[in-house]
Amino acid sequence: MTKIKVKTPLVELDGDEMTRIIWAMIKEKLILPFLDVELKYYDLGVRKRDETDDRITTESAYAIQRYGVGVKCATITPDAERVTEYKLKKAWPSPNGQIRSILDGTVFRKPILVKNITPAVRSWKKPIILGRHAYGDLYRGVELMVDQPGKVEIVYTPEKGQERRLLLHDFKGPGVVMGIHNLEKSIRSFARACITYALSEKVDLWFSVKDTISKIYHAYFKNVFAAETQARRAEFEQAGVGYRYMLIDDAAAQAMKHEGGFLWALSNYDGDVFSDVVASGFGSLGMMTSVLVSPDGKFEFEAAHGTVRRHYYEHLKGHPTSTNSVASIFAWTGGIKKRGELDATPAVTAFGEKIEKAVIGCIEDGTVTKDLVPLMDPRPIGHQSTEGFIGAVAAKLKTMM
Ligand code: NAP
Ligand code: MG
Repeated sequence: MTKIKVKTPLVELDGDEMTRIIWAMIKEKLILPFLDVELKYYDLGVRKRDETDDRITTESAYAIQRYGVGVKCATITPDAERVTEYKLKKAWPSPNGQIRSILDGTVFRKPILVKNITPAVRSWKKPIILGRHAYGDLYRGVELMVDQPGKVEIVYTPEKGQERRLLLHDFKGPGVVMGIHNLEKSIRSFARACITYALSEKVDLWFSVKDTISKIYHAYFKNVFAAETQARRAEFEQAGVGYRYMLIDDAAAQAMKHEGGFLWALSNYDGDVFSDVVASGFGSLGMMTSVLVSPDGKFEFEAAHGTVRRHYYEHLKGHPTSTNSVASIFAWTGGIKKRGELDATPAVTAFGEKIEKAVIGCIEDGTVTKDLVPLMDPRPIGHQSTEGFIGAVAAKLKTMM
């Protein structure tokens, strides 16, 4: 069999723990036997990030900017515990956060639906797409430990004009402080990316923050969204879709009663939390895809879940695992399909679609990993191991080639 030629290199970002093991299997069993592709490989495993003082992360983001499409494996965001576990020089920042800010991108997450899994929220019939703002707030926060009584103030020193001071808190005892920020430019490109994606998918756009409490910070986001959606009202009308602003808690309640089929734009932290809520509601975290889109049309595809640490420790003990590889596979297929589209090579796009069909076909035949078994109707008798599932997809794919 001759391999399908991919014109432009694909940027590959390797990762950590269980997903790193899955990543290698996917590449070996589902990609390289069929595709003639040049992979620009960046090892974002935590050890390599530490070894390179994290330069590898920055370099990988620039590679995505250069070549246009990247596929990324899940990575560890080190905390104090990880610093000890991996003997790291320091708790390096989140690679995803860094790549997002270099690309100024917006992350969209969309669940993979299959016929034989009914979402936990019974009203959900269509995907809920989540758009997570990818810059600032908690993820660019500056924190301070207050260990004795004293005043903490916010001081703004404009380049021209008068300094402004605001009392944050007059501490009578120990406590903690955090300063967060966001940028007009970033909020606006987030709003624009969400509008563009909602219009292209022909779904309603929701946006929610807590502007009743945060009358300046959150209200700023609300106003930018209002202005941007207003500016494109004609396009909304033409597409037959609408824009709704709701308070975050109201939106959360509404989402539980809705049939889905809308794009929910969320601030950075809310997007982090609700993407996991929505993913679990639709089935498993292993069934949630994620794509980072930059305003100038660069794409990075990945799974929405983490490195599945608990499974990795089982694997290290020599115990069999049953980790869902679907979202990681869809990271590869998302990248391959986009590469085909941008290069105008339909055979490449069609190959990406074939892998997806093979995956869905396996699940709908009842060939699944353990996480999906309790969600399925009818319930399959057994489940596959991590490698067993990928093997089944590879076997099905071969029959389709
Ligand atoms: P996780 O990897 O998302 O997994 C949490 C739990 O969810 C797992 O223990 C497992 O539940 C279930 N799960 C998630 N993905 C699954 C899959 N593919 N198949 C089957 N079950 C799955 O989160 P974590 O283990 O708490 O975090 C590990 C590391 O991931 C952290 O260091 C964090 O920094 C990192 N992280 C990275 C990304 C990213 O790179 N995009 C995102 C989030 C977190 P059971 O244990 O019940 O089986
Ligand atoms: Mg998360």
